[in-house]
Amino acid sequence: MKAPSFDYVKPSTLSEVFSLLQEHGDTARIIAGGQTLLATLNMRLSEPKLLIDINGVRGLSGISVQENCVRIGAMTRHSEIEESHLIAAHMPLLAMTAPHVAHKAIRNKGTLGGSIAFADPAAEWPCCAVALDAVIVMASQRGLRRVNAGDFFQDLYTTDMASDELIVACEFPLQPSTTVCAFEELARRHGDYAIVGLAAVAQASGKTLSNLRLVFLGAGNIPVRARAVERALEGQPLGPELLVAARKALAGELAPAADLYNSAEMKLHLANVLLNRTLAKLTA
Ligand SMILES: Cc1cc2nc3c(=O)[nH]c(=O)nc-3n(C[C@H](O)[C@H](O)[C@H](O)COP(=O)(O)OP(=O)(O)OC[C@H]3O[C@@H](n4cnc5c(N)ncnc54)[C@H](O)[C@@H]3O)c2cc1C
Repeated sequence: MKAPSFDYVKPSTLSEVFSLLQEHGDTARIIAGGQTLLATLNMRLSEPKLLIDINGVRGLSGISVQENCVRIGAMTRHSEIEESHLIAAHMPLLAMTAPHVAHKAIRNKGTLGGSIAFADPAAEWPCCAVALDAVIVMASQRGLRRVNAGDFFQDLYTTDMASDELIVACEFPLQPSTTVCAFEELARRHGDYAIVGLAAVAQASGKTLSNLRLVFLGAGNIPVRARAVERALEGQPLGPELLVAARKALAGELAPAADLYNSAEMKLHLANVLLNRTLAKLTA
């Protein structure tokens, strides 16, 4: 199918973007990498009257290490995150996750901000943002607004962002040196959206994990934090009994919906497989 007709503008400043969003509201749509939006237009799942291309706006991309966080501009491409030495050194969860985001050609165009804004429950960046307790920075004519990733994702493809706002950056808090992390996912083919995935961050002392954050993708309408599993594992040395307790806790709190290819039971089974693999990595 072909996209419906729309007007197109390419502003060069944020203030122009803000006025356009203010003027056109819900009938306008930001276009960043276009890797999701163009497909939804072609399938006529979305029919905006105006596309606001933010590729010409300066200052929206780049990775920097600040006093308390790693700041990644919204227009930073997935592949820049994948290849960044700063990310490898300071935010290894993002470095190990990046190769799982789509295919190389899509990673070269797609942006962090686009992925966070679209809020696909099977996408990797929203899941990592919740696991790393990131802050989503939004801007509009009203000024800047910061929201924790855990509050930003509200429902299927639904976020806390208002129609006159745009994401300008994500801030990932710097982690203590005892931090361990792991990312695992299962996809039909590498580069496809995953069936289920798990991003994990914790403090490790030998086989004992604390301050765990275990966040599943593909297991609900938003990234799902497995809080009962986190509690079951907190501060105790990992062994066979604890693993059984963790599996029980997961079965009690994770209720993934079936998709076209996988039953709910299959997805829960896969989530368990990922939990085992992830815990083994965290305590290795
Ligand atoms: C074949 C294929 C496979 C894919 N596989 C995966 C995968 O495995 N994992 C994965 O995570 N993604 C996957 N994607 C999606 C890809 O990662 C996209 O790049 C990403 O989801 C959207 O980023 P974008 O910059 O292309 O956004 P766009 O397509 O330009 O925009 C997406 C949405 O976000 C809004 N938006 C964009 N930027 C902003 C902003 N700064 N502020 C506010 N709103 C904004 C747009 O208005 C639009 O509604 C896949 C895409 C394709 C085509």
